[in-house]
Amino acid sequence: MKVATVDGRLALVTAPGKAVDAAEASGGRFGPDVQQAYERWAELSEFAATLGEGHALERPVRDDQLGNPIPAPRQVFAIGLNYADHAAESSFAVPETPPVFTKFPTCLTGPYGDVVLPEGGNVDWEVELVAVVGKHADRVAEDEAWDYVAGLTVGQDISERRLQLAGPAPQFSLAKSYPGFGPLGPVVVSPDELPDRDDLELGALVNGEQVQKGRTSQMVFPVPALIARLSAVTPLLPGDVVFTGTPSGVGMGRTPQRWLQAGDQLVSYVHGIGELRQRMVAA
Ligand code: ZN
Repeated sequence: MKVATVDGRLALVTAPGKAVDAAEASGGRFGPDVQQAYERWAELSEFAATLGEGHALERPVRDDQLGNPIPAPRQVFAIGLNYADHAAESSFAVPETPPVFTKFPTCLTGPYGDVVLPEGGNVDWEVELVAVVGKHADRVAEDEAWDYVAGLTVGQDISERRLQLAGPAPQFSLAKSYPGFGPLGPVVVSPDELPDRDDLELGALVNGEQVQKGRTSQMVFPVPALIARLSAVTPLLPGDVVFTGTPSGVGMGRTPQRWLQAGDQLVSYVHGIGELRQRMVAA
């Protein structure tokens, strides 16, 4: 199943660039509220399996109709240093436990749009695979953890490095939560739709130049390990999201360092899911 937010309503993707409105196609059995979909994910999956390409209610979907497919998660988890090559470029050792922070939910946005660069900031890119929780997950075993994942999407953990690294203690959560700093989308893809849910290529391009390229199989703590470790402490709720960390190639790790400038076009992708496109604009 692939779900999207189309004109603010829950939609089920039936073919590339085509979808049906879930409320309309189900005769009201499912509502238009996208976030609610994660509360009834198994039921929705069964219903989606009955919809084929060419469904009578299928409509073309333009990019400008697409919004954030996880518009209101109650909890947003983000993982630092989850790829060894990114830990190295950040001058950190590979962590023995995953460093966890949050992105405050007001920073989350849809897959396409403008990002206002904070004045005087050093704004950096971090493409990430984002896992969406599909079932209440409390102390879940790692080998069962995929069962608790509704789907996967593309995320950008846009980061303002000056504030992030300002003392006396780093400000990861705040520095990564300016408005627009958490684009998500364009669709949430259930893991069964992917050729290998544990090995997906992800990358980022700035003005067409590839700056990041990695594979999710390189994660220090893969998705099931993250679900197990997070849920050992705090229950994960349907519709929560986990930003799973970024591979190497961020601007901070370059010599000289490189930051996003007004006018820059940032494209972030995960193969099998889709891409995000953000344009940087001056404050
Ligand atoms: Zn990150």
